[in-house]
Amino acid sequence: MSDVLSCPGCGFIWDDVAVRDVPGRLERATSAFVDVLATAGELAPIRPELDRWSIVEYAAHLRDVHLTLRERVILATILDDAVGTPIFRDERVNAGFYASDTANTVAHELQVTSQLLLRAVATLSPEQLAREFTYSPASPMRVTVLWAAAQGVHESEHHLADARDNLARLAP
Ligand SMILES: [Zn+2]
Repeated sequence: MSDVLSCPGCGFIWDDVAVRDVPGRLERATSAFVDVLATAGELAPIRPELDRWSIVEYAAHLRDVHLTLRERVILATILDDAVGTPIFRDERVNAGFYASDTANTVAHELQVTSQLLLRAVATLSPEQLAREFTYSPASPMRVTVLWAAAQGVHESEHHLADARDNLARLAP
């Protein structure tokens, strides 16, 4: 298990999340993120600072987090001692993979990917949720499948706060 108890950025506590909480929290965070994208309008693709992602980039990152976590969950339920695929969060942005993403497309995709993740989590048995795996080569901590599901909630809520923070910086 990870020895990280709470996120230093947003205070999220992984152990506080029960599997039954995951669908509702994922849906609420996604719906709120879609609202931020709509509210931001022309501000959505703008970086408030050079080294800070735009709202579109945060949304695209979260979309890829949903997909990556879903694959990790599936891998860990099938393989013993699975190692999750690293997301390379900055590398994929810097390599231009988000360059053609727009507020409209990522808003749609976030709703799809959050549903893909929450439906995968909803199928898991208590035994599957308790299985351990290595999160990724870049973050080689031992976690459970349930922890990964909670991480889906965390990433969604944490980056929703980033997106709202961008909005406050761009349209004070
Ligand atoms: Zn956080």
